[in-house]
Amino acid sequence: MFDTEANKNTVFAKFQKLAERVDTLRVSGRTPFGMRFDEMLSQTRARVGNAEVLLAGTNNYLGLTYNPDVMDAAKQAIDTYGTATTGSRLANGTYSLHLDLEEDLKEYFGAASAIVCTTGYQANLAALSTLAGRGDHLLIDADSHACIYDACRLSDAETIRFRHNSPEDLDKRLTRLPAEGARLVVIEGLYSMLGDVAPVAEFVEVAHAHGAMIFVDEAHSIGCYGENGRGVSQAQGVLDKVDFISGTFSKSFASIGGFCVSRHEALELIRLVSRPYLFTASGSPANMAAARASLKIIAADTSLRKELWDRVYQLHTGLSDAGFTISSPPGPIMAISRPDEHVAVAEWNQLMDQGVYVNLAVPPATPQAKSLLRLSVSAAHTEADMNQIIAAFRTLPKTA
Ligand code: PMP
Repeated sequence: MFDTEANKNTVFAKFQKLAERVDTLRVSGRTPFGMRFDEMLSQTRARVGNAEVLLAGTNNYLGLTYNPDVMDAAKQAIDTYGTATTGSRLANGTYSLHLDLEEDLKEYFGAASAIVCTTGYQANLAALSTLAGRGDHLLIDADSHACIYDACRLSDAETIRFRHNSPEDLDKRLTRLPAEGARLVVIEGLYSMLGDVAPVAEFVEVAHAHGAMIFVDEAHSIGCYGENGRGVSQAQGVLDKVDFISGTFSKSFASIGGFCVSRHEALELIRLVSRPYLFTASGSPANMAAARASLKIIAADTSLRKELWDRVYQLHTGLSDAGFTISSPPGPIMAISRPDEHVAVAEWNQLMDQGVYVNLAVPPATPQAKSLLRLSVSAAHTEADMNQIIAAFRTLPKTA
């Protein structure tokens, strides 16, 4: 597929190894990267070619993508505001929808400020790269999402990595820092690949003991953890102590967009200087309206969280009983480590043959260079769906 001669000395030359790797991973005509879904049949089913597949690898944790209230809100927003804002938040891209959503987020989190960005990726970029400046220190968990790493590259602060989920290692590293400069600790509530939860309360204690502020990315945990779905910080009783929380509308909120909220009102100031907030068009009316409608449901409807967790326990038990080692205790994200990427791809195809779609995750997108079959659970899954997934996994060899 890769024409080495034609690409010699061009910008593409460096991709030769990557192209070869992708070729070896492409089995039976199916490509696991950027899978094509021809038609969405529901929150949990799609048509791929002529086959119907059960979706066990979305981030649609509460199954709100087909919720009638959320869909109506998006449709009405298009009727009222059109399809796009065509401009940045600072110019012509701030509609009442964006401001109302920020007010709703403030109320939901009990925060003093809330900033809505165009994606969750940009929310982390916007907040982290601007809050931590020259002379400051950003201390990030080693397993941080790519956008946290990218935020560090955009920031003028010095970045220090600490061992994944280790408040002890953070404590050591903070102790060694010079007194000058501000310190910002960055963790995630629920890690997106292995589905492990951070000891947020312990991190808050360590960070604050060293005069550092703490930033928790709750992209995957909002809607799923905590009594009102406010995430792992709420579940661990430290929501009011966390300095910044970021999140995305692309998962439980069934939309696109992202945000950062803070108990510090001064967060508002970054609107004037943060490049990933300023130099991009604002979220579309339909996306903002859908996110608002979802937030209302997430805050009020505890039944979805219950359904989600019922299915989580069912799947975790079923896969464990089938002989698989799951990366973490029960949670909406479950990963099963495979011996190498070729085995993972072959098994991913085998699951597809049986009408089950899971995520294939391979290095460099995974911690410890693992090759993973990653599953995510939705409140919209039924008991029968879980049984179908378990039955499909039972046909795989038990190599781990
Ligand atoms: N943070 C984490 C932990 C994520 O996993 C993701 C996306 N998968 C994001 C931020 C970015 O969210 P978005 O999809 O809204 O850009």
